[in-house]
Amino acid sequence: MRKVYLDNNATTRMREEVLEAMLPYYKDIYGNPSSIHLFGRSARTAIDAARAKVANLLGAASTEEIIFTSGGTEADNFAIRGVAHALKAKGNHIITSSIEHHAILNTCKFMEKEGYKTTYLPVDKDGVVDLDALKNAITDKTILITIMYANNEVGTIQPIEEIAKIAKDRGACFHTDAVQAAGKVPFELKSMNIDLASVSGHKIYGPKGIGALYVKKGTKITPFLYGGHHEMGKRAGTENVAGIVGFGRAAELARKEVSEEARKLTGLRDYLYKGMIDQIQYVTLNGHPTKRLPNTLNVRFKYLEGESIILNLDIEGIAVSTGSACTSGSLEPSHVLTAMGVDPADTQGSIRFSLGMDNTKEDMDYVLQVLPPIISRLRDMSPLFENKEK
Ligand SMILES: *Cc1c(COP(=O)(O)O)cnc(C)c1O
Repeated sequence: MRKVYLDNNATTRMREEVLEAMLPYYKDIYGNPSSIHLFGRSARTAIDAARAKVANLLGAASTEEIIFTSGGTEADNFAIRGVAHALKAKGNHIITSSIEHHAILNTCKFMEKEGYKTTYLPVDKDGVVDLDALKNAITDKTILITIMYANNEVGTIQPIEEIAKIAKDRGACFHTDAVQAAGKVPFELKSMNIDLASVSGHKIYGPKGIGALYVKKGTKITPFLYGGHHEMGKRAGTENVAGIVGFGRAAELARKEVSEEARKLTGLRDYLYKGMIDQIQYVTLNGHPTKRLPNTLNVRFKYLEGESIILNLDIEGIAVSTGSACTSGSLEPSHVLTAMGVDPADTQGSIRFSLGMDNTKEDMDYVLQVLPPIISRLRDMSPLFENKEK
């Protein structure tokens, strides 16, 4: 059976080149990077090189602005907790959006228990943050604004430079969760007013369990883990050397291929969507029609439940998801689609197709061959569909 993986926003297949780069660090180059002998120095050199590659992918001004973490979730936790604690004397107000990843939303919830206040900004029907609401929400107690670069469920890309400019004008620190944007759309942090940015290895064809927080020089942040002097004294613990090396290699390749990959994936994605609307009725796009990640297609199939579509596609070897990996399995409607004003009944029938570098036109044709009969079969059994006209 043909296997088509279309869940690349949940995670990606690690590239062969990445694995190759990592293997020596699980075998021969096992020194502790903090040791001063040759074994240690070899590992240190590899970490330094990887840090430069991640800095380069993000367009950081200096390699010291990259702090390796255990992933995107830790980077998000680190940014919010680190900045909030460092600026406690200045204020206690955090601004975020209502469509953030749970790594942001639940960290903000935790900060509220510590006495911080959070404003969750609304978004429009395309998932774009309301800039007027942002301007109105800022007070002299606002210490941190954290808004994702691109959304993992619907792919909408925020007007991030405008948001960063507003934050800077009002003297608030600005963090962006760039986990989905990095490697998919080109950007250069050093020429933007972004103080902190989160990235993750496994979303860019690197290993799981490794990520980084970009911290612009001069940004006030308390350490995330206490111990030795690792990671500029901000995140203690013997480094995940092989993971860091793999992440570095993935970042290097992503930097080189980002534009061409974006072009290719946009083409495949739009071909898939066109095929769907040609063959299937009552299909609507979730997310911004153009300001969207090149690989992401989230659509709602009215009168249906997403779970049954996923299971039926899975039987045919096609892997998709309802949106965020963290909420699948729960029947809660997506907080992202809800914030975008999608009818609660329709949020259930939404499916995310997130493409990756391995996908081909043949994969899209296979989906377009398998999906329409599944949808019509499920609709034939759906009481919602039967009653739609009444
Ligand atoms: C995947 C993801 C994360 C979490 O990254 P991990 O490395 O899996 O912890 C955070 N934010 C966004 C937008 C993501 O897509």
